[in-house]
Amino acid sequence: MAPSSIAILGGGLTGLSAAFHLSRRFPAAQITLLNKDIHFGGWIHSRRAKITLKDGRETSVLLEAGPRTLRPNSKSVLELINLLGLSPSLLTVPKSSPAARNRFLRLPGTQGLLRIPSSPLSILTSGLSPKSSSLHSPLGHILLSAVAREPFRPWNRPLMIEDESVDEFLSRRFGSEFARIFGSALVHGIYAADSRELSVRAAFPSLWDAEERGRGSLVTGFLRPSKVSATAEVDDPYQLGDVSKQMRGVSVYSFSQGIGALVDALLRELRTRRNVRLLGGVSATGLRMNPRTAQFEITTSSCETLRATHIVSAVPLPSLKGLLSPKMPLPHLTANPYSSVTAVNLVFLASPGHALHPVGFGYLVPRASSEHEENVILGCVFDSPSMSAQEAPWSAGIVKMTAMLRKPLTSIPRLVEMLSEQLGVRLPDPLIVKVHDNAHCIPLLRVGHLQRMQELSDVLRGEPWRGKLEVIGAGVGGVSVGDCVEAGRRAGRSWA
Ligand SMILES: Cc1cc2nc3c(=O)[nH]c(=O)nc-3n(C[C@H](O)[C@H](O)[C@H](O)COP(=O)(O)OP(=O)(O)OC[C@H]3O[C@@H](n4cnc5c(N)ncnc54)[C@H](O)[C@@H]3O)c2cc1C
Repeated sequence: MAPSSIAILGGGLTGLSAAFHLSRRFPAAQITLLNKDIHFGGWIHSRRAKITLKDGRETSVLLEAGPRTLRPNSKSVLELINLLGLSPSLLTVPKSSPAARNRFLRLPGTQGLLRIPSSPLSILTSGLSPKSSSLHSPLGHILLSAVAREPFRPWNRPLMIEDESVDEFLSRRFGSEFARIFGSALVHGIYAADSRELSVRAAFPSLWDAEERGRGSLVTGFLRPSKVSATAEVDDPYQLGDVSKQMRGVSVYSFSQGIGALVDALLRELRTRRNVRLLGGVSATGLRMNPRTAQFEITTSSCETLRATHIVSAVPLPSLKGLLSPKMPLPHLTANPYSSVTAVNLVFLASPGHALHPVGFGYLVPRASSEHEENVILGCVFDSPSMSAQEAPWSAGIVKMTAMLRKPLTSIPRLVEMLSEQLGVRLPDPLIVKVHDNAHCIPLLRVGHLQRMQELSDVLRGEPWRGKLEVIGAGVGGVSVGDCVEAGRRAGRSWA
C-alpha cells in the first residue's frame, strides 16, 4: 500500500534527495524530515569569508569544509541540477585544462611534488620527448612497470574469497609498491582512511568487475566492454535536460556559490511543497513500531511523537542504532568505523610572478613506507586554479588551498611550514585560516561491507519492518555525493 505518512531521519544530502524524490512520487503522503543540526546538508558547508585586499578593496572568498568539486559521472546529481534550475551557476573544469590534468603526489624522502602521469600511454609518449622527465620520475617508472606486467600475472584471486582490502587487491595485481603509493594515496583522498582496511568491492566495484571481465587481468578487463544494466534507467529515466551536454569533456564542476548551492536549491524547492515539513535542529531520539497500529512512532528532541507509516533513515548507522530499542535490533550498524578529517582552508596573497604552487588539482600523500613515520597531512587541494570564478575578477593574486589532516590542527605556523616544505615554496603568512574539525565524517566501508548490507536489507524486508523502514546514506551505499543523491532517488521504490 502507498505510504500516507513518511518520516525522513537526517537532512544531509541523502535525506534531502529522498525528500525531493519521495514528495514527487507520493504527492498525497505527508512527509516530515528531521535534522539534528539547524544547518541542513550534513557535511556540505560552503561559506564566504570577507577579505580586504592590499588596495583596501573588500571582497570575499568561497570556502568549503566538505566536498568542493564533483565529477560529472553521477546522473542523479546532474538530474537535480536540471530540475532545480542550477545550470546557470555551474562552474566547469575541462578535462584538457592543466587544473584537471595535473595531479601530484608527495613522496616522503623526495623533493617537492611529483606529477602523476595522466595515463601509462602518456608516460610512453612523453618519454619520447627529450625534454620529458616523466619516464625517469619515480612515479612514471612504478606506474609503467606495474601496468605493463599486470596482464601477464596469472589469475591470482584466492579461491572462495568474496572481498578483500584495496591494498590486498592492488598488491595482487600490480605489486605492493604500486598499492602503497597509488592505492593508499587515492584512499587518503577519498576516505581519509587506510587502504589496508577499506573493502575493494564496496569502494571500487569497477576494479573487482574488471578483474572478472579480464579473466584475472584488470588491464584486459578495462579494455573489454562491460555489461551495463540499464533496466533501472529504462524504468525511471533521468531527467537531464541540457545538463549532460554542458558536462561533455568536463573533469569536475561546482557552482558559483559552492556545493552548498545544491543544498540551498533543494531546501528552496522543498519549502514550496505542501506535503513536506522540514524540522531543522530536531533530532530523532527513539524509533519503535507500535504493534497495535502497525505505525512507526518517532520520539524527538522537541518532545513530539511523530507517527509514520513509512520511514527513511538517512542518519549515520551508529546514530540509527542509538534510536532502536534492544527488542528490535538491526544487524551491522556499528561494523564500520568513521574517519575524522580536519580540513584547513588557507587563503594567501601571492606577489605577481611568484606562484605558491604548480597549476593543478592538488596533491596527495601516500602511506609512509615505515610504520614509524606518520604523515599528518593526507593531501592538499589547490582550489584556485579550478574554481577562481567563485571569486570576484579583481581578486587576482588570491590563492586558496585546503589541507586535509588526519589529526586536529595544533599550530597554524607549523602547518604552513609543513606545506611550504612539501610544495618546495616558502608560503607567506595566510590572510585567512578556517579550520573544520570534521569528526567521524566518512564511513570506512570495511571488507565484507556488501555482504553485511545485504543481510541488513534482508532483515528489513522481514517482520516487523516489512520493507517500510529503508536505511540509506553514506554508510550504506557509498560515500560520494553521487551515491548519496542516488540512494535518496531510489528510496521508497518498493512502496508504490
Ligand atoms: C571533508 C569531506 C570532503 C568530502 N569530499 C567529497 C568530494 O569531494 N566528493 C564527494 O562526492 N563526496 C565527498 N565527501 C563525502 C560526502 O560529502 C558525504 O558522504 C555525504 O555528504 C554524506 O551525506 P549523508 O546525507 O549520507 O550524511 P551526512 O552528511 O552525515 O548527514 C546526516 C544528517 O543526519 C543528521 N542526524 C544525525 N543524527 C540524527 C538524528 N538522531 N535525528 C535527526 N537527524 C540526525 C545530521 O544532522 C546530518 O545532517 C566528503 C566528505 C567530507 C567530510
